[in-house]
Amino acid sequence: MAKKQFKAESKRLLDLMINSIYTHKEIFLRELISNASDAIDKLYYKSLTEKISGISRDDFYIRLEADKDARTLVISDNGIGMTREEMEANLGTIAKSGSLVFKKDEASEEAAAKEIDIIGQFGVGFYSAFMVSSDIKVLSKAFGEDIAYEWESKGADGYTMKEAEKDSVGTEITLTIKENASEENYDDYLSEWTLKRLIKRYSDYIRYPIKMQVEKSRRIEDEADPATGAQDDGYNGAQDDGAEGKEPKFEKYIEDETLNSMVPIWKRAKKDITDEEYADFYKDKFADFEDPLKVIHSNVEGVVSYDALLFIPARAPFNYYTKDYEKGLQLYSSGVMIMEKADSLLPDYFGFVKGLVDSQDLSLNISREMLQHDRQLKAIEQRIEKKIKSELENMLSNDREGYEKFWAAFGLQLKFGLYDNYGQAKDAIKDIVLFYSSSEKKLVTFREYVSRMPEDQKYIYFATGESIDKIDKMPQTELLKDKGYEILYGTDQVDEFALKMMISFDEKEFRSVSDSDLGIEESEEEKKKAEEQAESYKDLLEAIKAGLEGKVNDVKLSKRLKSHPVVLVAGDGMSLEMEKILNQIPSGEEQKVKAERILEINADHAVLKALEKIYENDKDSVKEYAGLLYDQALLMEGLPVEDPVAFSNSICSLIEKAV
Ligand code: ADP
Repeated sequence: MAKKQFKAESKRLLDLMINSIYTHKEIFLRELISNASDAIDKLYYKSLTEKISGISRDDFYIRLEADKDARTLVISDNGIGMTREEMEANLGTIAKSGSLVFKKDEASEEAAAKEIDIIGQFGVGFYSAFMVSSDIKVLSKAFGEDIAYEWESKGADGYTMKEAEKDSVGTEITLTIKENASEENYDDYLSEWTLKRLIKRYSDYIRYPIKMQVEKSRRIEDEADPATGAQDDGYNGAQDDGAEGKEPKFEKYIEDETLNSMVPIWKRAKKDITDEEYADFYKDKFADFEDPLKVIHSNVEGVVSYDALLFIPARAPFNYYTKDYEKGLQLYSSGVMIMEKADSLLPDYFGFVKGLVDSQDLSLNISREMLQHDRQLKAIEQRIEKKIKSELENMLSNDREGYEKFWAAFGLQLKFGLYDNYGQAKDAIKDIVLFYSSSEKKLVTFREYVSRMPEDQKYIYFATGESIDKIDKMPQTELLKDKGYEILYGTDQVDEFALKMMISFDEKEFRSVSDSDLGIEESEEEKKKAEEQAESYKDLLEAIKAGLEGKVNDVKLSKRLKSHPVVLVAGDGMSLEMEKILNQIPSGEEQKVKAERILEINADHAVLKALEKIYENDKDSVKEYAGLLYDQALLMEGLPVEDPVAFSNSICSLIEKAV
């Protein structure tokens, strides 16, 4: 039979699995069991919603069979099964959800770390079985189909598919377990003891029985003399007495044993669940390889009753900040999963939360559209949102380190939350947002900032830029720092927008350090000095402005500079930072935006005094110097100079004049 090839990316991942050095090969079992359980869920759900008779919940099971001689481990279920097409689609491709970036030739340690990353992040499920198997057969008959199919593969060189015999609906996966190797004792996966241990560890909560035939032994009574029981005549014959043929006899027999307790973890009392159990459950269900940063388990009784088990991942999934990521919680109605991702249960800004909600108050037949309007669900949604927020607040006040770890992963999401929908959600988030502080040199909350504001400081100042270091050197921050005011630094593109959207916190307005007016109270003396300077430099400023015709909207003496000669700030409306960000969005040249530019000059700087002299001697040469100052201001703002060649020529001619 002609071999079919795996899709290219699947092949690479398969190679990875087969030659895996992943230390947790045992997780293959939980992956296959989870798949079996999902398949049963699907059939059960279908039977309930389509009112199919003859299917009872009690009939469902998953079965393990190990055969040491044949080296096979069979995992079977009577779930919904797969059609031929489904087998092709599901077992011929993996990693549908993202692109695989993995280079084989990378340094081995790094490669190993990446490998674990990939295995974890993709939740590669079925394929993990190749870590322990030299051959895999999948025999499946889909519900409603007459013909069964068998898929078989020995690994990356392809797979075969043929019609096959199978009496009942469901799937049977036969793994041929690899021979023992130095790095792994593969025999373990055929041992009853190991299989029991793995089921207890990873799949105990699976809600259908996982059965296995186990060999047991029992003592048999002596048939020849049934009356003479050891107890009856008062002596303990079994040990002492061998002489009269009273040697106890045992017989072996085979019995079905259910290996899992079947109580879903979220139905159990919190106090009985260990951190490890929560973590294992999370990693299994939500395809992560790292323990969650936070577990939130609530059992709520009241107007609406529900159990919620929520997790905050330790790290953002690889596709989190892309449009591929789908938020949502699994939704169960009395233990039956009715939706894989109910997105209305989570606000966007908490979209990173994983988990599930189980409620007896929900109808099985609820559709996505109905969900939006379901009153019960709305109530659950509100409570969940509150709960997540209060857990985050708790973490912020009691475990700052943990919170900062959370912030590193999902802070960006919360900042988007401030900005989204015209700041609709900002009140819900504003207390748990962090920004870097110029004076504390660490992340701080708005409340912490406000609590430290000196009496005379009216605004919450912020500055945005590429890096903390670069922002720290911005001329715009000089005066504020000099006055001892704290400044919040934002290095993410959304920061400027998010902080503008905040408008105020605790009645203190936000103000960018680049705002045309910093709103600093001036003393009478300062005011007078400013007026005098403005008056004395009036003509010079006019000349500079004329020299920069078409480039800037205004030229002013600055109130924010200390050591720098010039700074470029924006007028009211769009800031220069926004201009940069908006212009990065690919669009036509005519779509480019330009903020209003104001060139501010430091009246106390020697440069202005020098310009004054130049102006007195030769009015026309001011234009060139004005151009240079403007270009400098552009560079400090991180904006390109409009004509680098002219800029260079000007500097050269200056150097020439210096001798
Ligand atoms: P995942 O479970 O993450 O989707 P897998 O590679 O484990 O990825 O499985 C791929 C798909 O194959 C499943 O989504 C399911 O549709 C199908 N599948 C796997 N195992 C079974 C099974 N025992 N019964 C029915 N379908 C199955």
